[in-house]
Amino acid sequence: MQEGIVIKRYGGFYYVKTGSTVRECKLRGRFRRHKKEVIAGDRVKITVLNDRQGVIEEVLPRETELIRPPVANVEQAVIVMALTQPEPDLVLLDRLLILAEAASVTPLICFNKSDLTQERSVAELYAHIGYRVIVSSVKTGEGLDQLKKALKDTISVFAGPSGVGKSSLLNAVEPGLSLKTGQISRKAQRGRHTTRHVELLELSFGGLVADTPGFSRLNLPNIRREEFATFFPEMDKMLGQCRFSVCLHYKEPDCAVKEAVSKGTIDAGRYSRYRQFLEEIIENERKY
Ligand code: GDP
Ligand code: ZN
Repeated sequence: MQEGIVIKRYGGFYYVKTGSTVRECKLRGRFRRHKKEVIAGDRVKITVLNDRQGVIEEVLPRETELIRPPVANVEQAVIVMALTQPEPDLVLLDRLLILAEAASVTPLICFNKSDLTQERSVAELYAHIGYRVIVSSVKTGEGLDQLKKALKDTISVFAGPSGVGKSSLLNAVEPGLSLKTGQISRKAQRGRHTTRHVELLELSFGGLVADTPGFSRLNLPNIRREEFATFFPEMDKMLGQCRFSVCLHYKEPDCAVKEAVSKGTIDAGRYSRYRQFLEEIIENERKY
């Protein structure tokens, strides 16, 4: 048997890549009856029938699992924001960072359209917090080598609002894809039925990338309020410095985080988004 990875599902077939060969595979009957669905990104063992066909015999355990779009084993979320046109949506950015981390997917923030502005403060802020940040431009080529390196030999999904340059960036690092700009986002908007047909695109320099942007569901996952600050690295670092050992950094007195905000060592905008999300989490807890 050979081990491979499902790159797409189409018309009852699963397309499995082993090395540089892609085979059209069927599922062994027992999977259809008992096992859960096989999705793009699943690592599988196949019986090779010939150069073009095989049979999936076994599905290996998933490292990660995104629900929308349904992709298994995604390692990296490339969160794209434009530095301008449109202005970066930091509420969405922070939400995507939380969703990625909750799914055990490593985030990479790409601030694109650097040719349109000199403004770099948001990029500096997030880099300072400790996130991996790339400043890029499809027009000048800035950051594209870095992006290529980050995509190499990993399974990635792009995320971010429409119009920020997700498809343009992919085309720039891999011209062979010739995605229509805007294509990625339109696909996601077509709705429930087509999201099943997510495909992992092969990068010629090694690596796979989902053709549908990630995290189309943006509700915060079930995170306990006491643990929520761990999703903000700059607050997580301060663990144990507040008066109360369990501090939500919200209304408690002698809170080291709030002190850091007033001194400016923690960004006030990040803190206010933390509070906004925390209230959302508390509200969700009430519903159950
Ligand atoms: P998507 O919706 O995120 O996939 O964004 P697109 O790739 O479709 O790009 C949206 C628009 O922004 C298109 O008109 C692109 O030509 C333009 N665009 C993308 N990247 C850049 C960039 O780095 N600089 C500039 N000036 N325009 C860009
Ligand atoms: Zn505190």
